[in-house]
Amino acid sequence: MGFLKQLDVENFKSWRGKQLLGPFLRFNCIIGTNGSGKSNVMDALSFAMGERAASLRVKHLRDLIHGAHIGQPVSDTARVSMSYCDDEEQETVFCRSVAGDSSEYRINGVHVTLAKYLEELEKIGIVTKARNCLVFQGAVESIALKDPKERTKMFEFISQSKEYAAEYDKKKEAMLKA
Ligand code: ATP
Ligand code: MG
Repeated sequence: MGFLKQLDVENFKSWRGKQLLGPFLRFNCIIGTNGSGKSNVMDALSFAMGERAASLRVKHLRDLIHGAHIGQPVSDTARVSMSYCDDEEQETVFCRSVAGDSSEYRINGVHVTLAKYLEELEKIGIVTKARNCLVFQGAVESIALKDPKERTKMFEFISQSKEYAAEYDKKKEAMLKA
């Protein structure tokens, strides 16, 4: 299983100019005082994974630019590059930038459509619309409070195990007959 190696941010939320977050290990823990920017790290990751503004705790994408929250954006653009390392140590860089309220997507420096970007993310197991990678602040409780059937459905969707349900039932039936 691959892992997130680092995030390169530029004028994104609390980071002014270019900054490197990482390198990360396979398991990471972010600590800091209230308001120090822990959730902004997750926002940067979510942004690079194609999340919409509402999930990034802003009304408009342009609010993500450093300084925009006090009406003083330092630039017209913000950018996050996410370096993903696969099992063969092969690195892929997913980069999303925002100018005004529109986004641009690049994979290893090559400009791509959002559809292609999400398709490539899906190949490494990231299904952005399924939120399979991130549990946002405050969401733990809502997941815990779901009824068991709802929760099972959610995990089946996230893990994409539903695809294998028919095959599983067939094999189970064959085993019971044997
Ligand atoms: P908590 O422990 O309360 O959850 P946190 O460490 O998760 O806090 P964040 O929510 O990540 O903190 O960061 C909040 C900080 O980010 C605030 O200080 C806010 O001013 C800053 N911030 C948010 N948007 C921008 C922006 N566009 N430009 C500059 N700073 C920003
Ligand atoms: Mg937080």
